[in-house]
Amino acid sequence: MNIKDIVRTIPDYPKPGIMFRDITTLLGNAQAFRRTVDELVQPWAGSKIDKVAGIEARGFILGGAVAHQVSAGFVPIRKKGKLPFETVRIAYSLEYGIDEMEMHKDAIAPGEKVILVDDLIATGGTAEAAVKLMQNIGAQVVAACFVIDLPELGGRAKVEALGVPVRTLVEFEGH
Ligand code: AMP
Repeated sequence: MNIKDIVRTIPDYPKPGIMFRDITTLLGNAQAFRRTVDELVQPWAGSKIDKVAGIEARGFILGGAVAHQVSAGFVPIRKKGKLPFETVRIAYSLEYGIDEMEMHKDAIAPGEKVILVDDLIATGGTAEAAVKLMQNIGAQVVAACFVIDLPELGGRAKVEALGVPVRTLVEFEGH
């Protein structure tokens, strides 16, 4: 079984020129879903991880499963205005304009070891902001894990520049 073959590609979605890498086909395949979760955290199996943080929305699905797998708590990182308690917030650039993401200010205690999870890293802007948000409150981000890397967009280097190792399982060319 090849994880890459189970990711579905939708050309020109959500706009012309984008090859959308759809992981719902992977999530829907019991064997592939289990193997993806196992492989994502394989380097940290046996390490003490306190929290797994997932980026809204696909990072919640993978991150929840990963948290269970490593016996850690789960922390949602969400678009602004969605979380009910007091939050910490960070702004980050999108292709057009700026957005903000948040997490609860008590979600991670200073010094806790955290793994960040999302489905895909492209330019790395989203993951970079999530790492900074957690580092700002004293979290020790020990890794950032993604099923898919788009290496031409250079996201990995952005996250590694923050001192965080990046793990990815499959690569696709282009955007
Ligand atoms: P970036 O901040 O550029 O690394 O973008 C990463 C975020 O955008 C992730 O949450 C992805 O789910 C989403 N994303 C970016 N490009 C794609 C793509 N080609 N296919 C599917 N999702 C994408």
